[in-house]
Amino acid sequence: MSDHAIRKVVIVGGGTAGWMAAAAISSWLPKGSMDIELVESDEIGTVGVGEATIPPLLQFNDMLGVKEDEFLAATQGTFKLGIEFVDWGAIGERYFHPFGSHGADINSVPFHQLYLRENSRRSLPDIREWSMSAVAAGLGRFARPGAGARLPLSQLVYAFHFDAGLYARFLRGLAEAKGVRRIEGKIVDVAQDGENGHVKSITLADGRTIEGELFVDCSGFRGLLIEGALGTGYEEWTRWLPCDRAAAVPCALSGPPDPFTRSTARQAGWQWRIPLQHRMGNGLVYSSGHLERDEAEALLFANLEGEPLASPRHLSFTAGRRKLAWNANVVSLGLSTGFIEPLESTSIHLVQSGITKLLALFPDRRFNPAERDEYNRQVQDVFEDVRDFIILHYKATRRDDSDFWNYCRTMELPDKLASKLELWRSKGRLFRDGQELFGPASWVAVLLGQGVVPGEQDPVVMTIDAAVAADTLDKMHLSYLRMAEQMPPHAEFIARACAASTAG
Ligand SMILES: Cc1cc2nc3c(=O)[nH]c(=O)nc-3n(C[C@H](O)[C@H](O)[C@H](O)COP(=O)(O)OP(=O)(O)OC[C@H]3O[C@@H](n4cnc5c(N)ncnc54)[C@H](O)[C@@H]3O)c2cc1C
Repeated sequence: MSDHAIRKVVIVGGGTAGWMAAAAISSWLPKGSMDIELVESDEIGTVGVGEATIPPLLQFNDMLGVKEDEFLAATQGTFKLGIEFVDWGAIGERYFHPFGSHGADINSVPFHQLYLRENSRRSLPDIREWSMSAVAAGLGRFARPGAGARLPLSQLVYAFHFDAGLYARFLRGLAEAKGVRRIEGKIVDVAQDGENGHVKSITLADGRTIEGELFVDCSGFRGLLIEGALGTGYEEWTRWLPCDRAAAVPCALSGPPDPFTRSTARQAGWQWRIPLQHRMGNGLVYSSGHLERDEAEALLFANLEGEPLASPRHLSFTAGRRKLAWNANVVSLGLSTGFIEPLESTSIHLVQSGITKLLALFPDRRFNPAERDEYNRQVQDVFEDVRDFIILHYKATRRDDSDFWNYCRTMELPDKLASKLELWRSKGRLFRDGQELFGPASWVAVLLGQGVVPGEQDPVVMTIDAAVAADTLDKMHLSYLRMAEQMPPHAEFIARACAASTAG
């Protein structure tokens, strides 16, 4: 270890973000090389919602050495193959945003261009029928593509739905086994260095003081250190993402759990439906400028598929991000860094992405500003990319049945998103910019799903013989269906996986 190495990390908060950070930092470091303490308050509790994830979580679990079956059993987890969107383009329409790709490119010509040309010659089924994940989801089937899986099974990409509280508990077990010390107590004061403003220590209500060199702020929306102590500032995105409230309630399952999330657009927001093993998670995300709290609750309850299992939980938020995710010796993760509504289940991923970047740029006690600036630049990029993809869902609507949708349909866009849409509208061209989380296949799913069709064909399709392309498309189409039909029902797969976890 260098003379300047950090000797003590203090993680403030024990929600999903805090325990993900504790588990990751403790497993990444050589054991005993650094003290890690995590402070959480039972009295304050956690946000307590957040149940759907995206595929990179598999890598996070892998990094921690988590066995997938054990994790599923411990978190009441189910598999997620994508999101079904209902009533987004127009009332009565539905589409599927699957994980993974659609079809396969031919000689580097993007699959969606071939699909669009063929669709203009004869009416093709929805593009979802060329996605392994979507076809399996439609049949309620699931199979895990092993390391040596071949086409088309190798194109099945998945994530999970789970109880985030149970996940945090699961990670706590891993972190404590690696030496992380948990301290229960409410932080009431923060002491800073008079010269450089760095946080030196936190004080709990019972008078205990905890000192540290690096502080990881996972204190949720309040941003106890990053905002409360350092006054970092927050950039609001409500002009593009006007939803600022949520009401959430679990209900009983009315059948076997689907391997996908459903998002149904409502008059002033949207409702999620997330099937776990033991219950259905539901919530309405809405704009308080367009819907009253009581109306929102009534709408949520009117659309439950089973008996409510708890009282509804009401949450307020402001879409946006902290101006600096890393300020002085405080790195914020999770809700203290910012919030983008859970339409594409990205919050837990943003925590993961922050942790990965922190490990890649881990500071020493000199806190090199270049490391901090690079971290902040990368976090800003990933937040803005996710934001733009979420805005797309609101903008690309034809709904005109409420003030809310009229606002969304006609709002001005951030420049980068406006250019991206223009490229698509002209010839259906899409490019992944840098480290963008959502690649062209995701954009295609939303754009075509919401009825945004390019004006002209991209001349690049002319390089592929139309008859050859048509034949390839038909064969692919059939291969996805045949493969999905061989998979076990999703519920059966989960039962086997959970049984294997207890047997193993
Ligand atoms: C409506 C809604 C739906 C969501 N759905 C999804 C989803 O489907 N998928 C997804 O990925 N994400 C989702 N999220 C986001 C997800 O819930 C959070 O990103 C995730 O739980 C991380 O939260 P957190 O740990 O940052 O904060 P919190 O859960 O709020 O935890 C904060 C922690 O800080 C502690 N703390 C705070 N103040 C003090 C103090 N003074 N002293 C001591 N301790 C303190 C608390 O006790 C707690 O332990 C959703 C969020 C909302 C609001």
